[in-house]
Amino acid sequence: MILLTGATGYIGSHTWLELLLAGHQVVGIDNFVNSSPVVLKRLEALSGKKLNFIQGDVCDPIVLEALFKKHAIKGVIHFAALKAVGESSAKPILYYENNIGGLINLLQIMQENDCRNFVFSSSACVYGDPEKSPVKEDSDLKPENPYGQTKLMGEQILRDLEASDPRWRVAYLRYFNPIGAHESGLIGEDPMGVPNNLAPLVSRVAAGRMDELNIYGDDWDTPDGTGVRDYIHVVDLANGHVKAIEYIFSGKPSLTVNLGTGVGYSVMDVVRAYEDVVGQPIRCKVIDRRPGDVALYFADPSRAEALLGWKAVRSLKQMCADGWRWQSQNPLGYKS
Ligand code: NAD
Ligand code: UDP
Repeated sequence: MILLTGATGYIGSHTWLELLLAGHQVVGIDNFVNSSPVVLKRLEALSGKKLNFIQGDVCDPIVLEALFKKHAIKGVIHFAALKAVGESSAKPILYYENNIGGLINLLQIMQENDCRNFVFSSSACVYGDPEKSPVKEDSDLKPENPYGQTKLMGEQILRDLEASDPRWRVAYLRYFNPIGAHESGLIGEDPMGVPNNLAPLVSRVAAGRMDELNIYGDDWDTPDGTGVRDYIHVVDLANGHVKAIEYIFSGKPSLTVNLGTGVGYSVMDVVRAYEDVVGQPIRCKVIDRRPGDVALYFADPSRAEALLGWKAVRSLKQMCADGWRWQSQNPLGYKS
């Protein structure tokens, strides 16, 4: 049995489905701080399986202890975290308490229950503003906000734990920019409140929920002047987790890998790909740069391919098409 924390969130829900399709047994936990219980019904419809799920907080030891008593958990994929960069600067204690407190609580209970196989949701933001792209895993680590610090500290805690007991096996997965949705249009990204990230904002403008997209600067040192990122289809990312937990279960040594496509696309590339899919122009306005933004970065994903046999295969067009299907079938997300 694999425990997924943050199981009903954006990446968790897509990973849950791919794990079930690959024949794994899964139990999920989530406190719904940034997700909806409707996800569970959608996942049951997509997988044709009854789900094991508990509503609860990973910071609560009693809940986790009960979960480990009830199920023979062999490994954990830990998604549960708060992830809004701006909010993390405004409320750092909340972020350290939830992301670090939850991790420590989980690791303690895993240790007590003799479970030492772990997949950690890290992030490209541990690299901060990388000196060069493609970014390799041995690049300098210098996160620029409290959220990114929680990811680097999480990695550090796990590395110390591994050093203390070689039975721990950890996959440190550094995600680049996940976008898109499952091709069914039944599950997708549904951020609470106003989104901050590019793809859900472009979707909302395309759907008429917002008037226009603010482009944060067109004078960056990039080919068209707008910011460049490595967007990865969330289903490709989910499959990276299936490969990672299978790798860990096989007893191979811990690994740290970038999960990205290795290709950088600009804000304008994303807008144009969306326009192609939607068949109408997306209104944009160039405004000042967003504080803390960086011009360009994209992954070198070759280590993930070499060690996990994993490679992202879905194109930007497919990311936008699937994202748009999710948006148009669920105009108000899971509240639709
Ligand atoms: P998400 O917010 O959609 O999912 C996280 C889930 O965790 C949510 O369902 C939330 O309700 C739950 N959660 C948060 N704190 C919890 C707690 N204390 N107890 C139980 N559940 C809790 O985010 P996501 O995009 O699916 O991200 C998943 C993981 O990947 C996070 O750790 C995030 O930091 C990391 N990550 C995300 C991105 C991205 O761009 N989406 C990039 C890099 C890393
Ligand atoms: N971006 C933008 N307008 C928005 C949101 C984002 O121009 O409303 C740009 C942002 O400056 C960056 C890219 O889109 O160049 C991706 O931003 P996002 O917040 O999605 O990811 P991150 O910057 O955290 O990698």
